[in-house]
Amino acid sequence: MDQCYANNRDLGQASLAEAGAVLTIDLSAVRDNYRQLKSRLGSARCAGVVKADSYGLGAARVARVLIEEGCDTFFVAHAGEGLALRAEIGRGPAVYVLNGTQPGAELEATAAGLTTVANSLEQLEAWRAAARAVGRKLPVALQVDSGMSRLGMMPSEVETLAADASLLDGLDVVLVMSHLACADEPENPANAAQKQAFDQLRAMLPAAPASLANSSGIFLGADYHYDLARPGAALYGINPTPGHANPMRAVVRLDAKVIQTRTLDKNIGIGYGHTFRTTGPLRAATISLGYADGWHRRAAAGAYFNGVRLPFIGRVSMDSIIIDISTLPEGALKAGDLVELIGSNQTVDDVAGHAGTIGYEVLTGLGHRFHRIYEGG
Ligand SMILES: *Cc1c(COP(=O)(O)O)cnc(C)c1O
Repeated sequence: MDQCYANNRDLGQASLAEAGAVLTIDLSAVRDNYRQLKSRLGSARCAGVVKADSYGLGAARVARVLIEEGCDTFFVAHAGEGLALRAEIGRGPAVYVLNGTQPGAELEATAAGLTTVANSLEQLEAWRAAARAVGRKLPVALQVDSGMSRLGMMPSEVETLAADASLLDGLDVVLVMSHLACADEPENPANAAQKQAFDQLRAMLPAAPASLANSSGIFLGADYHYDLARPGAALYGINPTPGHANPMRAVVRLDAKVIQTRTLDKNIGIGYGHTFRTTGPLRAATISLGYADGWHRRAAAGAYFNGVRLPFIGRVSMDSIIIDISTLPEGALKAGDLVELIGSNQTVDDVAGHAGTIGYEVLTGLGHRFHRIYEGG
């Protein structure tokens, strides 16, 4: 009975009553962000990058909204993500697998109509073999390394490919792509260097639509747009122009419940290691969220209640955080009340700053114990 109960539990779908924290995802903001990026792109098309379950926000929900906005191309990192997405969105849209298909997974990928991104001659060869095995032409995207040195064919591999047309036997090149290493630093000369390298490598390959820009790349200007842009982060409200005002709408809100409150005298140790000691009387609340929920242990930020900042005190625990509520009127905050951790007072990028990381890591790290609310779907 217990086991049956456990098997039927869907993590991430905790009820509001049982969950310690509530993650609200505003799909109308995703929609607006997509529209804005699309309008910046002019005639270039705008794909949706929905890898890592849309940066933790729910790939199926996000993809459906983007499809309504006319998006017909999606990027995932792994074939497994592509299979799951395919089951949700049907056969219509193109689904590209950025990491390429792992050896042995090609046939499953072709059966689901996924398009591999061939990052090496080796991956290309495996995809050619898959085309032979299924007895029909398969679409393929070629990724070239224009200077990030992460994924994609090196210039020498592109030369080999250019010299031997048989390496593309049974394949239809539907996209030539590359990825920018420094797109969020518009002044960095690496951007122009990568663009130039991309153009040179592309010229050696069969003519096909081209794609270079991620979210920040879109903001580098029309020269970087080519035929298709691949934004992820900006769709989810992360600032694609660090150091400047965020042009995107916020998508995520995170609120945690108060579990209990207490009044403490002076010189009392708080939390693991007693890293914080009271210097006078202090009212504290313990909230139901911790590092197991993806809140970085070193992100010593604050929580907000009616716009009032309530600083964290002591260490972040696995399932809880202690906050100082002395500035609130007595009794203003009770067990069961919600305090804001991500929202209008503190953005995803702010939290990332507190943790010494980037908004991408904050979003993708958010855990699976929350009650999730999707708005504006
Ligand atoms: C993740 C990724 C993107 C999306 O990047 P954002 O910065 O989130 O817009 C685009 N292209 C490739 C190859 C990626 O790996």
